[in-house]
Amino acid sequence: MNTAIEEQLRDQIKTHRDRVDYLEIRLQQSETTSISFRGSQLDSVNRSFSLAGGVRACHKGGWSFVTFNGLSELDTRITEAISQAYLVGQETTQLAEIEPIEDQVSVKLGRDPRGISLQEKRQLIENYNKLLLDFDSRIQTTAVSYSDRFSITYFVNSQGSCITQERLDVTGRFGAIATNNGTVRQGFESINSRSDYNALIGIEDQVKSAAERAIRQLEAQSVKGGQYTVVLDPYLAGVFIHEAFGHLSEADFVYENPRMQELLQLGKPMAIEQLNVIDDATIPDLPGSILYDDEGVRAQRKYLIQNGVLTQRLHNRETAGKLKESPTGNARALNATYPPIVRMTNTAIEAGDRSFEEMIADIDEGVYAVRMLGGQTNGEMFTFAAAEGYMIRNGQLAEPVSDVTLTGNVFQTLKDIEAIGNDLSYSNGGCGKSGQMPLPVSVGGPHVRMKDVVVGGR
Ligand SMILES: [Zn+2]
Repeated sequence: MNTAIEEQLRDQIKTHRDRVDYLEIRLQQSETTSISFRGSQLDSVNRSFSLAGGVRACHKGGWSFVTFNGLSELDTRITEAISQAYLVGQETTQLAEIEPIEDQVSVKLGRDPRGISLQEKRQLIENYNKLLLDFDSRIQTTAVSYSDRFSITYFVNSQGSCITQERLDVTGRFGAIATNNGTVRQGFESINSRSDYNALIGIEDQVKSAAERAIRQLEAQSVKGGQYTVVLDPYLAGVFIHEAFGHLSEADFVYENPRMQELLQLGKPMAIEQLNVIDDATIPDLPGSILYDDEGVRAQRKYLIQNGVLTQRLHNRETAGKLKESPTGNARALNATYPPIVRMTNTAIEAGDRSFEEMIADIDEGVYAVRMLGGQTNGEMFTFAAAEGYMIRNGQLAEPVSDVTLTGNVFQTLKDIEAIGNDLSYSNGGCGKSGQMPLPVSVGGPHVRMKDVVVGGR
């Protein structure tokens, strides 16, 4: 961290702040390495350094955002941002009040990837790639990658905040594709650490499980389409709550949409009393964990649904101001050259009290849906393709099935949740919104049982 940079940014804010209702500068210094393999081929090796940022101004409710490279052009860019805000502003600026914050947040580093040679990183990832390729003759190809990124982000605004935050992400992604007689299946694993390169060492078993999954699914027959009682595994339960529900909780979406305002009135019962949904940025070391958001608001743990009732939405300062609710610390940007928008952090269904065995014990014929291959949402409708599926027969897990796609209306599906498992876990995710992706988040959940889910087969 560099106090000279902080001083320079503060001086710029002081020079210009009286001309607009609100002004902020974010500047990010980052160092990135990425290596990827496709099959046995080294696909790419990249190393980059950057110093870039963005200026946001708001005047009479009109926002502008201007990016800059390096500090020499900053003064000119601030002037541009201010004149653009003048052009669009025609109302009043409504930002929820927050106390100014001065803070410096550093990463408690384990083994720092910046001190490790490119050769060593490449060797590590090449070995894991080979492990997947050699796992079984039916593994046809792989997609394996490594990345590390260390950044320092400076945030200074016209209301007296000055926050400097370090962040490290070390990530390994391991994909295996298996083929047999024209059938193609894939398996995937990812590992992320916020503090330590060594988190990627000694993970052979986890890497191999990507290949195991792909091979196992080669045996699966297409599921017979119909309505079933479905049990989601923790990963898919987390994806469901993020994609189908979490995005609807983002207040920028809600206040632009009268139908959603009606469907998402705070205090409305949404599901059984055992259902609790959180967005929690304060859990240590997950991809979505932050101390302050990109508007300098302290990040929090929030209940979106508590005891089955809709309790809170996700806000930036403007949506909180306009809807007269409290800011939640959910303004996030992909990096400092993008404007912060309302985003999730670590979003999860909290654990309930049922074991997996109890949840399936009285299901005569149902489907166990595991992990996610892909999906889409359209307003309140969703479709997810599970990566793996198994029939549940007479209270027991039975044969593997493929082509398990789940379709429904999120509000109906929340009401159809029958049981919540006692086994919460979190998985890494990358979220996309308004051209900013992949934003690091995590999704979590226990096993969740739902009735009358439409399952499409082939
Ligand atoms: Zn998302």
